[in-house]
Amino acid sequence: KAKSEGRSTYHFFETGMDAELQQRRSIEAGLRLALQRQELRLMFQPLLGLHENRVTCVEALLRWDHDDRTISPVEFIPVAEETGLIVSIGEWVLHEACKAAASWPGDVRVAINLSPVQFRNKDLVGQVRAALAEAKLDPTRLELEITESLLLTDNESTIKALHELRAMGVRISMDDFGTGYSSLSYLRSFPFDKIKIDRSFMRDLTTRHDSQAIIRAVIGLGQSLGMSTTAEGVETEEQLAMVREQGVSEVQGFLFSPPLQPASLTNLLHSEASKALASKKAS
Ligand code: C2E
Ligand code: MG
Ligand code: MG
Ligand code: MG
Repeated sequence: KAKSEGRSTYHFFETGMDAELQQRRSIEAGLRLALQRQELRLMFQPLLGLHENRVTCVEALLRWDHDDRTISPVEFIPVAEETGLIVSIGEWVLHEACKAAASWPGDVRVAINLSPVQFRNKDLVGQVRAALAEAKLDPTRLELEITESLLLTDNESTIKALHELRAMGVRISMDDFGTGYSSLSYLRSFPFDKIKIDRSFMRDLTTRHDSQAIIRAVIGLGQSLGMSTTAEGVETEEQLAMVREQGVSEVQGFLFSPPLQPASLTNLLHSEASKALASKKAS
């Protein structure tokens, strides 16, 4: 009796593992076809420049519509990275986002997330140049966001690619700052244009003095290194007031706007542009 119970427990465990593996395999199989089936799309989240008091930048965020649901990048980007599919998906994102930005009014920039895996592709710089040329987008309107994990690999070719991109006029941002385990040393390996403070620091900003102190220190650090700072995940007026007071340049978060459908973003930018024109005429 005991023996058969043991066996059934074992089978249960094995089935659990199978289900997880199967889920992964199905994401992987689906993702291979996602591009040709046109199941990928971009959402756009505007960032508010606090000095300019207008949208200064818009982050492109990937979505995957598959099997009657929308799958979050948190779920499929890791699979795309492990399988190498991120290289073609990332190239699609670059072209799509540059095309969108070229259609926006004014000089609003577009920010794109790059995976460390894309840097292993020798021709990343060429891909970026091609996307800009195809969209006829000025390189100064493109920002590339990278995470600290990229610099973990800290190889010369990565740093070289970053310098080449920057020399073209493309801006480089450090995303999710403060979540890695040696964030500060990364600021020394490359001259970033922008530091995006991870939203985990926003969560307890209003209740914890240490979070406030850290944010203040990061902003000061950015200022002395010539890097601007963005606060990610600003959800309340209270958080906004605090980061503003501490001198952050830009805010991103649900308070100002969630990620938007392309048409809604375009509408927002057009209404902003016409308001700016009206106030210019009035003065
Ligand atoms: P991220 O680059 O840090 O992007 C910001 C994430 O925070 C987005 O999640 C956005 O929807 C979310 N967010 C913005 N404001 C708020 C807020 O006020 N509160 C909260 N709770 N969340 C907020 P999303 O779209 O799910 O993307 C998650 C991550 O997936 C991104 O984090 C980025 O690392 C990755 N990702 C998205 N698109 C791409 C892509 O095209 N390529 C690559 N390699 N990674 C991507
Ligand atoms: Mg990002
Ligand atoms: Mg981020
Ligand atoms: Mg983040």
